[in-house]
Amino acid sequence: MCERLWTVEPLPSIVPPMLTNDLIEKFSAIVGRAHALTSEAGIAPYLLEPRGKFSGHSPLVLRPGGTEEVSAIVRLANDTGTAIVPQGGNTGLVGAQMPAGEIVVSLSRMNRVLHVDDADNCITLEAGVTLHNAQEAASAKGLIFPLWIASQGTCQVGGNLATNAGGINMLAYGNTRDLCLGLEVVLASGDVWDGLTSLRKDNTGYDLKHLFIGCEGTLGIITAASMKLLPSPADRATVFAAVSSPVEALELLSLVRRMSGNAVVAFELMPRSGVEMSIEHAGCRDPLEGRSDWYVLFELAGFDAEGGMKTKATSILESAFEEGLVDDATVAASTQAAQDLWRIREAMSEVQRLEGGSIKHDISVPVSKVPAFLDQATALVKKLLPGCRPVPFGHIGDGNIHFNISQGVGEDREDFLAKWQDVSGKVHAIVREYGGSISAEHGIGTLKRDELAAIKQPVEMEMMRGIKQLLDPNNILNPGKVL
Ligand code: ZN
Repeated sequence: MCERLWTVEPLPSIVPPMLTNDLIEKFSAIVGRAHALTSEAGIAPYLLEPRGKFSGHSPLVLRPGGTEEVSAIVRLANDTGTAIVPQGGNTGLVGAQMPAGEIVVSLSRMNRVLHVDDADNCITLEAGVTLHNAQEAASAKGLIFPLWIASQGTCQVGGNLATNAGGINMLAYGNTRDLCLGLEVVLASGDVWDGLTSLRKDNTGYDLKHLFIGCEGTLGIITAASMKLLPSPADRATVFAAVSSPVEALELLSLVRRMSGNAVVAFELMPRSGVEMSIEHAGCRDPLEGRSDWYVLFELAGFDAEGGMKTKATSILESAFEEGLVDDATVAASTQAAQDLWRIREAMSEVQRLEGGSIKHDISVPVSKVPAFLDQATALVKKLLPGCRPVPFGHIGDGNIHFNISQGVGEDREDFLAKWQDVSGKVHAIVREYGGSISAEHGIGTLKRDELAAIKQPVEMEMMRGIKQLLDPNNILNPGKVL
């Protein structure tokens, strides 16, 4: 055990109190009756996430219209020991947004884009703006907001920040943390920290925004943010290629980086099993004639004259064929063709739901170790789950694989899912052998909370608990999540 630098008392355990009618009235008055939901039907959409894995219960959903209202809610919650769960687009994958009796504070009404600045290359927006709308606002000024995740039509920027979302463009532009310039946050006391800034450089002490990015609503409620924008590439090329294994996929990535002048903005690995599910359930077309065990989908983006990127992609593929890295490939001839190729990858999570139960992992290992991890973990799950169908896919260029396993055909869903914990524990043990992470981009929530202490050093847990105690001494902000 490390020597403690400070005393960390156990956080008060918040048993969600039976909210009295009087307290419900007081909370409701802050947002106005129309925006305080108490009926079963009104609350229901906030209690189940789209995949149906996590469900919750709550007596009250508050939909504040501005930061002052969030502040008033949190102040009252702190004064009365009432726990609250902040919620964005409710697309989180680890249960962090689900209430277990607490009041839900939904940021959805706070959906204004406040400012897009093409001189500072910055967008300032409220937390409830959907990722799609943030992208559109940037695009209207000829810029891009380069966060790209499958749920972008529904997820909200505040939630992206609170979970430090990664996604498909992380390879080129970084994750949500890397894209953030400043935050406005409501603290557990109800105080508002206005840290909205477009400054690129600011070395004046601790960079506090990083405490709230990825905190999953446990340290404060993000109410607004300023985010980086980038010039919109004039030209793109999208390539779908068959490779014989993840080893060739990584060699291809090196070649593409070298030959394109590092213009690769996405590089995704997919197995045949997943491509077949997208063809079967998402209406996708098989892009290549033959079958291959593995595919990569990659995108180049740059500022050459139109068509320049396709020419570049074609010459890269010629070299890749010569070096034996690629067996077959297609370069999308149109924007529609590129979207069709991306649909195969984007549908890969949702189509697995239609194939029965799926045991999911969001792991990362050093990029060079992905092929060895895949070999070892696939052999393991085939032994543990005879008849299962591994569907590992994802951001191989970041070392982040969604190591998902679909149940065997005809197998009982519940029997299969009952093995989740045992299988995950063993897969995560392999991840740790490679010095990897058991949550690369989805967070901890409740799904991985109990594993956290086992993977973190004691000194890391001490620091995290100390920060939680400092910023939320009464444990009213999303209690029971992360820690
Ligand atoms: Zn992902």
